[in-house]
Amino acid sequence: MTNHDNRRHVLSLSGGKDSAALAVYLQDKVPNLEYMFMDTGYELAETYEFLKRMRAILGIEITVVKPERDFETWLDLKGGYLPSPHKRWCTDVLKISPYEKAIGSDKIYSYIGIRADEDRDGYISNNDNIIPVYPFIEDGLVYADIENLLESSGLGFPKYYEWRSRSGCFFCFFQQKIEWVNLHKHHPDLFKKAMSYEKVGEGEKRFTWSEGESLEELLLRKDEIEKAHLDKISAKKKNESGDKLVDIFQDFGPKACIICDL
Ligand code: SF4
Repeated sequence: MTNHDNRRHVLSLSGGKDSAALAVYLQDKVPNLEYMFMDTGYELAETYEFLKRMRAILGIEITVVKPERDFETWLDLKGGYLPSPHKRWCTDVLKISPYEKAIGSDKIYSYIGIRADEDRDGYISNNDNIIPVYPFIEDGLVYADIENLLESSGLGFPKYYEWRSRSGCFFCFFQQKIEWVNLHKHHPDLFKKAMSYEKVGEGEKRFTWSEGESLEELLLRKDEIEKAHLDKISAKKKNESGDKLVDIFQDFGPKACIICDL
């Protein structure tokens, strides 16, 4: 990394494993690195717990940036139209705009934890004062390196990886059906809250988080969803022995945008 000018150096943490591993990786490489967390206000308790661990173990300060309006206010303004992979308005209003506002007109390097073994796109700022830097790609770090960085630093993985593949809002529409079932198991109150945002009444336009069914309908198919997931795991294990649960969840799900899930 050759960035020795007067720009600020900022690492945006998502609460996920890759940006956390990048914090470990850059700790001794980039002096005056600043850490930011875009807090939508709808994150999991496990995410806050992981950030607390990061502060304690890495001895870093993390600036928490919040949006001016919360999701519920935005949902009202959008006429109850839930965000979806095709209409991802939430990322802009809850994460990107607050981030860019916090940066202002300062010239910064924005460090992004995309690995050398993945093919992802997502948030790259259009503001020319924000220059993206990809240290893992530049230095060829892959999943096993991220695992090593997290384990050797004592951080480990965020706890939610035991039942969910991504960081971000508890209601994120990128969740797989099994992850919704798991959300219900681990945080029934949050599942209920997510249900309350859906519109499924008779005669009104349906807005549901998960494709093709409401969360109530999805829950009725819980056993079927769990069985399908177990079948996928055994099929995968037959082909690739030794995979951990966290890897399996990662492999099955779609990839969310990088500012929310990295
Ligand atoms: S985590 Fe999901 S729901 Fe939350 S802002 Fe990102 S894309 Fe939207």
